[in-house]
Amino acid sequence: MNTFIKDRQNQILTKGKNDAAIACGKASVAGSVSQRACVFCGSRVVLYPIADALHLIHGPVGCAAYTWDIRGALSSGPQIHRLSFTTDLKEKEVVFGGEKKLYHALISLIEMYKPRGAFVYATCIVGVIGDDVAAVCKRVTRETGIDVIPVMSEGFSGTKKDGYKIACGALSKLIGTDTTFKAPEHSINILGDFNLAGELWMLSEYYKKMGVNLLAAMTGDGRIDAVRKAHTAQLNVVQCSGSMIGLAKEMKEKYGIPFMKVSYFGIEDMSDALYEVAKFFGSDEMMQKARMLVKDELSKLLPALQKYKQELEGKKAAIYVGGAFKAISLVKALRLIGMKVVVVGSQTGNQDDYELLQELCDEGTIIVDDSNPNELAEFVKQTGADLFIGGVKERPIAYKLGLGFCDHNHERKEALAGYEGMLNFAKEVHASVCSPVWQFMR
Ligand code: SF4
Repeated sequence: MNTFIKDRQNQILTKGKNDAAIACGKASVAGSVSQRACVFCGSRVVLYPIADALHLIHGPVGCAAYTWDIRGALSSGPQIHRLSFTTDLKEKEVVFGGEKKLYHALISLIEMYKPRGAFVYATCIVGVIGDDVAAVCKRVTRETGIDVIPVMSEGFSGTKKDGYKIACGALSKLIGTDTTFKAPEHSINILGDFNLAGELWMLSEYYKKMGVNLLAAMTGDGRIDAVRKAHTAQLNVVQCSGSMIGLAKEMKEKYGIPFMKVSYFGIEDMSDALYEVAKFFGSDEMMQKARMLVKDELSKLLPALQKYKQELEGKKAAIYVGGAFKAISLVKALRLIGMKVVVVGSQTGNQDDYELLQELCDEGTIIVDDSNPNELAEFVKQTGADLFIGGVKERPIAYKLGLGFCDHNHERKEALAGYEGMLNFAKEVHASVCSPVWQFMR
């Protein structure tokens, strides 16, 4: 621990050794090379899956390339979201301003792709040169009749979490704009599921079997028109609470829609997500259907997990993900396949999430907030982890240290949510941890 930055010491704890409340939710310490992404990236990952919207990045091409196809978010219809448009700002615009270029880009793209709405993301350089993005968006909305929403997400203006908030603000401008729609009985919105590898389709199928109607998914397989009518649902079910809890709270205040936090990862949390919704609607019939569904799924899943569990029993895992709520589900899911979590951390966890993690983890587990590659590599070496679960930035840490890796971030193309996802997860963890390749590492 001597090599770690002193100012970060209260963001790292070891269960059973120093059990004080972890410091979290603050700006990254300068020089620590945080694994967090920028504000713009935070906004982009939340809004990206809205498939019939135009996403225009007002900034240099590098910002657009960095976030191109940033999620494995699938669409059942339009694919406009996968085209990463940018105004490609250069020296000329930095000196003379980029508003004209933005205006012309919007007009031609709207004419060409006929989107149902548009989001314009302001990046670092736009914050520096001071383009009036909101004024351009307003003008284009007036001239085209398409809602063009400015997303003021200059990369330097905070943390990735601030980007989430800004994206929720953009969604909030659309919610409630369809004033004629009436939602059918038992309608919910799913907030914070991004339909990675089609996960949302699996989840909505479960809810459909229980008699629950999915009104708007924000933002997996998202559509502008569905977001407009989201205020008519009876319940908001929030999966990635780090990114969407702010919007859920706002909708409660504005439209009186209650919300619940759920997770769709692992058997326990997935089943609870179904039971809690049935409980909310107070329907015995719905609860009965949920129980039947869970029973049916588990009768197939549990025997299938056995062979992986036998070989993974006692292996150790390190987890470093975006939100701590997901980390909680992962600890439970790994236990189910016999593995022990020795390191767990997140980029954007809050106090409540970390308290839950502390309660859940075994003695000796290292819990860390807003970590960096140096710390993570050190933790893995100290604890002798056999597996690292993280995202694109953690993958090289794992492979350089010669241990298995499982991608549980938004880029992944493998469904890991729901019952089917639990089996995929076990298969992937097993294939990586038990790969013969590790014996050749020096
Ligand atoms: S917005 Fe700023 S920090 Fe984010 S990718 Fe662009 S230049 Fe980098």
